[in-house]
Amino acid sequence: MNDGDRAAERRDLVSALRRRLDASERTLSAIGAVPRHEFVPEAHRESAYADRPLPIGHNQTISAPHMVATMTDLLDVERGDRVLEVGTGCGYHAAVVAEIVGPGNVFSAERVPELAVAARDRLDRLGYDVTVAAGDGREAFADEAPFDAAYLTCAAPEAVPDAIVDRVGPGGRVVAPVADGGRQRLVRLAVRADGIDREDHGAVQFVPMR
Ligand code: SAH
Repeated sequence: MNDGDRAAERRDLVSALRRRLDASERTLSAIGAVPRHEFVPEAHRESAYADRPLPIGHNQTISAPHMVATMTDLLDVERGDRVLEVGTGCGYHAAVVAEIVGPGNVFSAERVPELAVAARDRLDRLGYDVTVAAGDGREAFADEAPFDAAYLTCAAPEAVPDAIVDRVGPGGRVVAPVADGGRQRLVRLAVRADGIDREDHGAVQFVPMR
């Protein structure tokens, strides 16, 4: 498959997401700009633009494009916003967010060192100025707070960790899968000066936070 075929596949994916989701054009055009095939292992390249999760090694997965679109929309970010990601994985979701907020504004932590190194190299090669740290997202980037938004790509047990919520300033948003018994729900927190509003966005399935 050549680059032209991949661009056509990517356009088809965006059209399918536009029909299926109530996603913003800002999010859809970010998805349309990121070469997802560069983020998936060689063996899965042909499926890079199918709307489903794919394995990325180390027992981890890249989320399906519709989930990346849904979460990115819920983050409600714009150019210049500073964003914290917990769970870089292959770096795809970070690249989509970076398309919106611009260079130098995405900070992402990944606890599997090999994935962190590979994602950092890949993002760098593709021209995305994203800062990747190897380590636990609950501890990374404390000195970069406050963020305008934060999200987890791994499911938090019971609730979004305080360490993450505390890094987001008033007016900020946190989007995360949260385990609720054996199930997971996608949760959006809106941080206010005097409290936090919590919205539920339905059942999801993510790898657990470690
Ligand atoms: N957004 C990613 C999806 C990654 S899957 C992408 O686009 O590819 C979730 C990732 O969260 C895994 O790579 C896993 O290793 C990582 N993870 C799990 N617990 C973590 C923690 N406490 N801190 C940082 N990363 C974590």
